[in-house]
Amino acid sequence: MKKTLLLLTATSSLLLAAYTAHTAKITPAVKKRVLKGGSWHRGCPVPLSNLRYLTMTYRGFDGRDHRGEMIVHASVAQEITQIFGELYRSDYPIRKMRLVSDYRASDFASIEADNTSAFNCRAVTGGTKWSNHSYGKAIDINPLENPYISRSGKIAHKRSLQYRIRKHKSSASTDRAVIVKGDTIVHLFKQKGWRWGGDWHSIKDYQHFDKPVRK
Ligand SMILES: [Zn+2]
Repeated sequence: MKKTLLLLTATSSLLLAAYTAHTAKITPAVKKRVLKGGSWHRGCPVPLSNLRYLTMTYRGFDGRDHRGEMIVHASVAQEITQIFGELYRSDYPIRKMRLVSDYRASDFASIEADNTSAFNCRAVTGGTKWSNHSYGKAIDINPLENPYISRSGKIAHKRSLQYRIRKHKSSASTDRAVIVKGDTIVHLFKQKGWRWGGDWHSIKDYQHFDKPVRK
C-alpha cells in the first residue's frame, strides 16, 4: 500500500511538472553578452532586431527540469518553443542550453561543453559561406552525443568517437540523447519544415537541424 502511494505521488509530481517558454526581443543585457562573446558583429547577415531570445524548460541529463536559453530568428521562435515543448513532454534529455557567446562564440568550445545552441554568426564548418546558424535558423542538439562526421570520416571531439555507430544502447540519458533516424525529435523538426544533418550523404551532422535560408 505504501509503495502504491509513493508511486502515485511520484506520478502526480511528474504530471504537475510543466513546460514553460518565454520569447523576448534582444534586451540590452543580452545584446551586451552577444557582443562581448562575439557571436554577433557588424556585417552579420541578420540584425539583432530580427532575432529573439528564448528561455525554455528542458529535461536535464539528471532527470530534473532546468531553464535553458537560446537565440533564434524571430520567424521560427514560435515553432521552436513548440518543438522544445514536445521534446520536454517526450522526456528527451538535454545536457545544457546556453548562449554560444558564453563560449566566446567558439563552436568547438560549445561542443566540448555538450551545449545545445542555435544562433552564432559564423561560416559553415569547413567553408566560407554563412552557416544557417548565422540566421538563427539552425540548432545543434547535444553535440557530443551527436557528432559532425566529415567526408573523410573524421570526428573532431574525442568524447564523440563512441557515438560514431548510431544506435540507442541503454536507457541512460547520454544514450537517449543520441539522435537516430525515426526518433521523435527528427519527426518533430521535419513536421515544421526543418532538415536534419543525419540525413546528409557526403557529411553527417547528427546534432544539426536547420530551416532552409534564402541567401
Ligand atoms: Zn549546426
